[in-house]
Amino acid sequence: MKRSEDERMGSRYKELHERLNLWYREHGRHDLPWRQTRDPYRIYLSEIMLQQTQVSTVLERFYFPFLERFPTLAVVAEASEEEVLKAWEGLGYYSRARHLHRTARLCNGVLPSTSQELERLPGIGRSTARAIACFAFDEAAPILDANVRRILYRFFRRRKATERELWRMAERLFDAKRPYDYNQAMMDLGAMICTPKDPRCDLCPLREGCRGRQAPERYPEAKKASKTPVRRAKILLCERGGAWALSQSRERFHGGLWHFPRFEDEVSGEFLGRELARYSHFALEAEIWRVAVLPKDYDKPIGFFTPKSIEELPLGGIDRKIFKKYFGVLSVES
Ligand code: SF4
Repeated sequence: MKRSEDERMGSRYKELHERLNLWYREHGRHDLPWRQTRDPYRIYLSEIMLQQTQVSTVLERFYFPFLERFPTLAVVAEASEEEVLKAWEGLGYYSRARHLHRTARLCNGVLPSTSQELERLPGIGRSTARAIACFAFDEAAPILDANVRRILYRFFRRRKATERELWRMAERLFDAKRPYDYNQAMMDLGAMICTPKDPRCDLCPLREGCRGRQAPERYPEAKKASKTPVRRAKILLCERGGAWALSQSRERFHGGLWHFPRFEDEVSGEFLGRELARYSHFALEAEIWRVAVLPKDYDKPIGFFTPKSIEELPLGGIDRKIFKKYFGVLSVES
């Protein structure tokens, strides 16, 4: 009797799951600290930090110092947004820190245990909710981060797919018997084997079932590179009685961070140098000027801070750079 298509695919996936699991046991990144805990907060923090930042950067510079300052989500809830932003300084994409703070307050320092509830919290999308629910609470559901997406496009030989189709593909390939190991394995496979460039199909545990392995780099379709717009601004260092003018951003981008006043028109003062900052959607070319007074047209509210208190404020990346580069000299001069 002929086996049904479902049965055939089922046993094929079963074999692939076995191979993936063996590969993960041997090659997986088991020593990552967020894999050695079931503490939902520590797992959530790693997921949020890793959304836009490489593992090595998170691991070497941010994860442990943040946990030292905020060992539990309850401590995050008790802190001010500014304190959380300060600990996030340098990691970029600051909406993540603001969402973390709001989430901590909304759930009174205790995360819910299902992906459905997690997904209702600020800054937690479907895939992140499922990752937290899976890694902390053993919920059996696939995730769909950038690495997993790339594998699915290639495995199912798709150049394009809607979100809905991608989730359907994720469900098809998912190993519901070992959700934790499967999801971790897929992330590692995407990071180590099925990489954007030069994937190592010869070493891949999924190669027997992968439809795209003849030409993996064709999948998914490459996005057209868009030119990053460049913005220009003058950044003004203005001192009064040993304290320096700063504004606090209220915009969505960089909201809550402090920065030296920015101005676009002509200024009179001393030109100190140029700095370049790259953000996700634009680059900023800045001229740094020391001015005696702020231009009349500068209309943002400002405060004055001593260099010592500036140390304590959450500053934008370019402002922290300027502070480090120029303030030793300026403070001595003033
Ligand atoms: S066989 Fe190649 S293209 Fe397919 S999942 Fe593995 S590494 Fe990616």
